Amino acid sequence: MDYNKPIPPQGQYTKPFWDGAKEGKLMLPRCMNCNRVHWYPRLICPSCHSMDIEWIEASGEGTIYTYAVQHRAFGGWGEEVPYVTAYIDLKEGDRMMTVLRGVDPGKPEDIRIGAEVRVEFEAANEETHLPFWRLVED
Ligand SMILES: [Zn+2]
Repeated sequence: MDYNKPIPPQGQYTKPFWDGAKEGKLMLPRCMNCNRVHWYPRLICPSCHSMDIEWIEASGEGTIYTYAVQHRAFGGWGEEVPYVTAYIDLKEGDRMMTVLRGVDPGKPEDIRIGAEVRVEFEAANEETHLPFWRLVED
């Protein structure tokens, strides 16, 4: 079945992220001046404005910062409602928005802020593997 949801465009600057994703690795930009990781990728560090950015392989571990149950969506996502979106506190720093897997959107009271999650990748096409986060079972 063809992937029917929006696929982010890839750019030269974000190539390390997409190359890593194809191998199941979460690559994050880190400032070589202040050592802070930031998400989303930027040419200039949002903390210290340095342009010395490197890419690191992240642990793929994080925790739920907050979440919301989505009941309306367009396009391919409309076929998945209800589903849960979340902001993930990345172990290395900063936050990533995601669609959260492994949770029941019909029982949001069971989703715990601070719960451990792990990244996984879903192939949208041959070139683009997208990160999603899944609840780690206790
Ligand atoms: Zn910096």
